[in-house]
Amino acid sequence: MVNKIAVLTSGGDAPGMNAAVRAVVRKSIFHELEVYGVYHGYDGLQRNIIRRMELGSVADIIHRGGTMLQTARCLAMLTGEGQARAAAALREHGISGLVVVGGDGSYRGAQALARHGLRVVGVPGTIDNDILGTELTIGFDTAVNTVIEAVSKLRDTASSHERAFIVEVMGRNCGDIALRAGLGIGAETIIIPEVPYDLDEIGQKILRGVKRGKNHSIIIVAEGAGDAREIGARLHEIAGVESRVTILGHVQRGGSPTAADAVLATRMGAKAVEALMNGESEVMVAAWHNDIILRPLDLAFAERPPFDRGMYDLADQLAI
Ligand code: ATP
Repeated sequence: MVNKIAVLTSGGDAPGMNAAVRAVVRKSIFHELEVYGVYHGYDGLQRNIIRRMELGSVADIIHRGGTMLQTARCLAMLTGEGQARAAAALREHGISGLVVVGGDGSYRGAQALARHGLRVVGVPGTIDNDILGTELTIGFDTAVNTVIEAVSKLRDTASSHERAFIVEVMGRNCGDIALRAGLGIGAETIIIPEVPYDLDEIGQKILRGVKRGKNHSIIIVAEGAGDAREIGARLHEIAGVESRVTILGHVQRGGSPTAADAVLATRMGAKAVEALMNGESEVMVAAWHNDIILRPLDLAFAERPPFDRGMYDLADQLAI
């Protein structure tokens, strides 16, 4: 029976992580479990920075971006010795269940702790939406909204100056932010790692638009699909398109979670506590068809999440 549980956030921070931590803490206290916060991710676990959490510890954080528990990369967790030290730190406090909010790398750390007899549950917290088995990750919706807001501002300038704007957004292996934001903003072109692209064709498309009287174009590029500056230079070379490049960078990771993310994170955090109470381990919480369900943790390691080709084709059809 798990009666002391801990929560940590790991990997890149994502808006909504705080809402998830709050839900874990309050749901645990509601069920009369002792709950602890591990600060600075696995690095803090190595250093035994573990504090008992009370109701008030998580007051006033549901709407804040970042993570109150802080996050860190921790190379020691990749070693057997580091993993044993982390497990021992939890045991020292009598903690037998751990909720890890993070990406698939963080899940691997959790899996290593499970080999030391701890019960672990993963909660998908990453803006990239790149975890297999869940339709959504915490922070993705906020990041998409941040991109849409920024691009609407750029669009005003783009149309006043009659040029193309190339906007680079986050997404190393997964173009979901670019795709969803591009569809939401009505971008002329979306360049993502999942689909090969031809700059010649893109240049011709922009020129066709200009001929039709279009006074601007928005091109959204996921960072993993190519360097936005190089793409801009090539488009100029190939088609004489004048462009400005904006790299949105870390603003996409910040800000208050959207309502959708705060609610998702809250439901996921609570589900993780229920899972531990029911004796589950090595599972991840997942959003699936409007429900929050449990999935085997190792599903997240299996392969990349399927790419929504239909959404990509729709964006392409609408941006003729
Ligand atoms: P994101 O990609 O969104 O930043 P992530 O959780 O995938 O999130 P990583 O940097 O890959 O981020 O992993 C976070 C931490 O998890 C690492 O710093 C490390 O401590 C731990 N970790 C990663 N991979 C492993 C592994 N194979 N075994 C044990 N621990 C790991």
